[in-house]
Amino acid sequence: MHYNLIRKMDIADGPGIRVSIFVQGCEFHCKNCFNKETWNFDKGKEFTEDTIKRVLELCEPKHIQGLSILGGEPLHPRNIEGTIALAKAFKEKFPKKDIWIWTGFLYENIVNKEILKYADVIVDGQFKEELHDFRLKWCGSSNQRVIDVQKSVKNNKIILFD
Ligand code: SF4
Repeated sequence: MHYNLIRKMDIADGPGIRVSIFVQGCEFHCKNCFNKETWNFDKGKEFTEDTIKRVLELCEPKHIQGLSILGGEPLHPRNIEGTIALAKAFKEKFPKKDIWIWTGFLYENIVNKEILKYADVIVDGQFKEELHDFRLKWCGSSNQRVIDVQKSVKNNKIILFD
């Protein structure tokens, strides 16, 4: 996996003050995607064990509420293993901090369910320009859902984040 950018402090992508990582590579190519520079899987920097270490260090301070993983497409088959490795390492080190993940896949279509063990919230669905609504807090278009993953897994149905 490659990644495009790590933000040491992000107050726009999820609640509180967060660290965020934008992974590289997405095949959805939504019209007017906010982040077209992340489409190419081969651009950006290589994601390694050192990248995980650096992200964990940045997440250490008390004021950091959690980690946001965006893209690009973190759950694409070419990226999912890196995303899982990062999410697993994060949850082992910070069980009380949260992980938010943005994906163009629908929650029901996530193939590798291991990620559901570590994610607290998944914002799913592709950006649809005709449903764009600037009032939405955590997503760009009204088809996208902000899903409480742990409640959804427990109840075996989609429960939205409150
Ligand atoms: S899924 Fe996200 S990153 Fe991919 S094209 Fe759509 S808006 Fe852009």
